[in-house]
Amino acid sequence: MKGNRTLTIIKPDAVSAGNTGGILQMMIDAGFKIVAMKYTWLTAGQAGKFYAVHSARPFYNDLVQFMTSGPVVPIILDADNAVDAFRKLIGATNPESAAEGTIRKRFASSVERNAVHGSDSDENAAIESCFFFSGLEMFEAK
Ligand code: ADP
Ligand code: MG
Repeated sequence: MKGNRTLTIIKPDAVSAGNTGGILQMMIDAGFKIVAMKYTWLTAGQAGKFYAVHSARPFYNDLVQFMTSGPVVPIILDADNAVDAFRKLIGATNPESAAEGTIRKRFASSVERNAVHGSDSDENAAIESCFFFSGLEMFEAK
């Protein structure tokens, strides 16, 4: 069975451009409920760990630099089949390929500065949620 939680981050490009509110509204309008949310600034160590799976990729150092260039807003979202439904709402990694009506189509400026993160599996949603939030047993689905 598919889980009902996913982890997103509103990335530094979107926060600094003033798009936090517009992006949150798109998430809410699409039926996602906010379970936990914070406004924070990642260290290079945290960003490097969060994206460790990409550490061998040529864009890794730039990605870590970008993700630490300003504040971010990590959020746990709840919806049926949350991971897949949210990946659909954000659109393709490269905004040039993202479908109309997606968050990245509207707010991303490049394949790197693409406005939002979205977990890619239930397992990673759980790992990434614990990365940013503690005490999650308080937020168990009712
Ligand atoms: P997604 O965020 O859609 O799951 P990936 O997990 O493949 O995409 O990549 C993680 C992040 O790394 C992307 O959201 C983007 O910010 C950055 N990234 C991915 N591919 C590239 C690339 N070719 N050049 C620069 N940055 C990239
Ligand atoms: Mg990914």
